[in-house]
Amino acid sequence: MSEQETPKTDASQTDAKTKKKVAPEKIIPMSPDMDATKKSIHPRFVKGKYQNIRVISMYAILAGFLILPWLRWNGRQAIMFDVTQAKFFIFGATFMPQDFYFFSFIFMIAAITLFMVTVYAGRVWCGYACPQTIYVHLYQHVEKWVLGERNKRMKFDKEPMSASKLGKKLLIHAIWFVFSAITALTFMSLVIGTDYLFFNGHTPFFLGWGKMAWIFFGIITFVTHINGGYMREHFCVHICPYGRFQSVMFDKDTLIVSYDYNRGEPRGARKKNAENSGLGDCVDCTMCVQVCPTGIDIRNGLQVECIQCAACVDACNEIMDKVGYQRGLIRYTTERQLVENQKTKIIGFRIFAYIGVLSALFITAGVVGSTRDPLEMQIRHERKQLSIKNREGMIENSYVLTIVNKTDQKQIYHVKLEPVEGLTLRSRFKELPLNANEPYNMPVSVIGDPAVIKQGQTPITITVFSADGQYSVSTQDYFSFEPKK
Ligand code: SF4
Ligand code: SF4
Repeated sequence: MSEQETPKTDASQTDAKTKKKVAPEKIIPMSPDMDATKKSIHPRFVKGKYQNIRVISMYAILAGFLILPWLRWNGRQAIMFDVTQAKFFIFGATFMPQDFYFFSFIFMIAAITLFMVTVYAGRVWCGYACPQTIYVHLYQHVEKWVLGERNKRMKFDKEPMSASKLGKKLLIHAIWFVFSAITALTFMSLVIGTDYLFFNGHTPFFLGWGKMAWIFFGIITFVTHINGGYMREHFCVHICPYGRFQSVMFDKDTLIVSYDYNRGEPRGARKKNAENSGLGDCVDCTMCVQVCPTGIDIRNGLQVECIQCAACVDACNEIMDKVGYQRGLIRYTTERQLVENQKTKIIGFRIFAYIGVLSALFITAGVVGSTRDPLEMQIRHERKQLSIKNREGMIENSYVLTIVNKTDQKQIYHVKLEPVEGLTLRSRFKELPLNANEPYNMPVSVIGDPAVIKQGQTPITITVFSADGQYSVSTQDYFSFEPKK
């Protein structure tokens, strides 16, 4: 059976004692009939409060993504995740591999926020902000522009192939390709940079791309095209791990899109303004099924395929308005409210626990972020031979200083040894000029006068400082003077 025939399903059960129908189980697992891989879904586009919010939210996020690579900061791309150099540039700050612990805080904050939102607001991410939902919505809209509303798209599907059908299909694919290519270019701009992609001195710009750029462009375009055009809800149902695990996070106080079973049943068609002859408020118009982007019937209860987009809420409200019934037969509610007729509980230990953990992570990330040094130095003591006696009869220890200019401007650095009697620093460089975000491994030696220094290990401190005195960093190590055996 195809979704277009809008099956009149009923997952209710009969109470053994009262012989009355009762609401279905809380979450219905995917049944073979509901398997989204078996049908081609052509949802009806609906207007309403929630769809307006969704459209604004989804296309604002999409616009933000497209604009991101074009933001500039101090004359360079403001946000760039340069994987080739293992550096992330974010509004003037440069993050290198040694800073990636900072991102672990960001990921933890994002994950816990998502958990908290899921526990209280259900799959609001899926319905209003997920890139998958955004692209599916966009690509389905293209079909609507070219073919028309749901009935026309269903009819088109059944038509035999003809020149006109082929032409329309090619047009849809051409528009999808443009969106896919723009997505690939945006994604690549964040990784390779707009300078390389668009301002490489070639006309047209793509003639300046290397082989790898073409390969990535091809892969991302293809994946986006297939995903938005064909994978669609199958991705949510069969691949997305978040969609799978979040249903186990739901409880009685989670906000979910629900059909008011007690109010709606027994469902059935009726004449307008007629006495409803014992029927519930559901007029069985199947509009809630027709608008569903995942092709399910919310009247069967909460299902794993439901992305909580509330299209069925808007559709049913429209029907309720038309038949003169109260809105909200399908609505956002909680199990506690709908089934137990009690007030939803939000304030409790759990919310304070989430807020506590999030606050701690925010504070830690803020402290770590604000104390990031714009100049970094690490010392590596030559381990093979800690100390040698050089031609001048002096004791010599070798080190490699890894100096990283983490500012977004060129700097000139000097190196000095904090005074210790009998020790001096020797370096090939008087000064070290480093470009913005440039690291350098600088070899230096510390020379010890054996007549002055003690045998064993002497603590030393090496300082690197910028010529303008703005930045400096000191690191400790030791000078080794081992007696000859
Ligand atoms: S849209 Fe509302 S009235 Fe129509 S079938 Fe769905 S629940 Fe019943
Ligand atoms: S059942 Fe309703 S809320 Fe769930 S995906 Fe379908 S239309 Fe969206």
